[in-house]
Amino acid sequence: AVASKTIPWTRKLLPASHRIPDAELAARTTLPVFGEVLTEHMVSVRWSATRGWHDAEVVPYAPLTMDPAMVGLHYGQIVFEGLKAYRQPDGSIAAFRAADHARRLQRSAARLAMPEPPVELFLDALAELAAADRRWAPSVESQSLYLRPILYATETTLALRPATEYRFLALAMVTEAFFGEGAPPVSVWAGTRWVRAATGGTGEAKCAGNYAAGLAAQVEAGAHGCRQVVWLDAAEHRWVEEMGGMNIFFVYGDRLVTPPLSGTILPGVTRASVLALAPELGLTVEERQVTLAQWQADCRSGAMTEAFACGTAALITSIGRVVTESGEIPVGETSGPVANRLGVALADIQRGRVPDRHGWRH
Ligand code: PMP
Repeated sequence: AVASKTIPWTRKLLPASHRIPDAELAARTTLPVFGEVLTEHMVSVRWSATRGWHDAEVVPYAPLTMDPAMVGLHYGQIVFEGLKAYRQPDGSIAAFRAADHARRLQRSAARLAMPEPPVELFLDALAELAAADRRWAPSVESQSLYLRPILYATETTLALRPATEYRFLALAMVTEAFFGEGAPPVSVWAGTRWVRAATGGTGEAKCAGNYAAGLAAQVEAGAHGCRQVVWLDAAEHRWVEEMGGMNIFFVYGDRLVTPPLSGTILPGVTRASVLALAPELGLTVEERQVTLAQWQADCRSGAMTEAFACGTAALITSIGRVVTESGEIPVGETSGPVANRLGVALADIQRGRVPDRHGWRH
């Protein structure tokens, strides 16, 4: 066991003879667009009501054994995070806004009556994983190391109450930008048959169930020739909220508009970064609600010059068209200049090409 800032860690790393040889690693991580490949290790920490956080370890990536009557499996006490680490010019690896992701995991956990992993424990877990698998962190410009922390209830009981035992895992995978580097604008489907989140629900938590509940709409989007879903509010089906796995921004010349964090939207770390960076690029920002009808009218009049999606996986991706039940709204045929500028500014910080004035690299 190795003492750390939080709790002792045990490192059970693969022996060199069992690791993928360095010479094969490059071939493994030459990915098609959207490709991803898991690294060789993972982190595991347990929590119980009697012992708190314990048994922190780095272990070879392997399937889990679980009790078939585990609470997480039946009642969905599962929350997770998604963040990226980038190879820096000096060869080190920096995770982007890791503490902010740790705090969001805490809020998600609290919403599902789960224990909140301490921020330091979360950061130590990622550092342990990155140290074990550091040779996997890609140097290719389009790629990054995607980190997936997850917390789920492991207690064996079918009683419907918060579990008394949990497990925290962190996995890493080499990944390409979600829509591909320099990808054409995405098409999005805005349907009204299903809703993602209602006031008082779990919309602002990053819980597994939210994503399961969105899949039917994602399938519907595909049937309408779209790659993503744009979610509307639950009460009126009028107000644009966010996308399946991204937040949304509208561009009016040099003015950015994004829906406010009303409690039904996931508070994106990329969204917060765009709001912070925009003024530095001479853009003004406004958090206010926009209806689907307004989106259409403003595209028609030319007042709205661009719209883009932003998130850890998607980075910043322009929206090309919106398909609705009553027709199609063309938004833009090529990536917008504002989205491009923001994308470059963000990537420069993430990849260590400019000083870290915001303290976002960990
Ligand atoms: N909304 C949803 C529903 C998401 O899943 C994500 C991805 N976590 C986002 C927005 C964007 O959040 P972030 O910028 O923190 O990745």
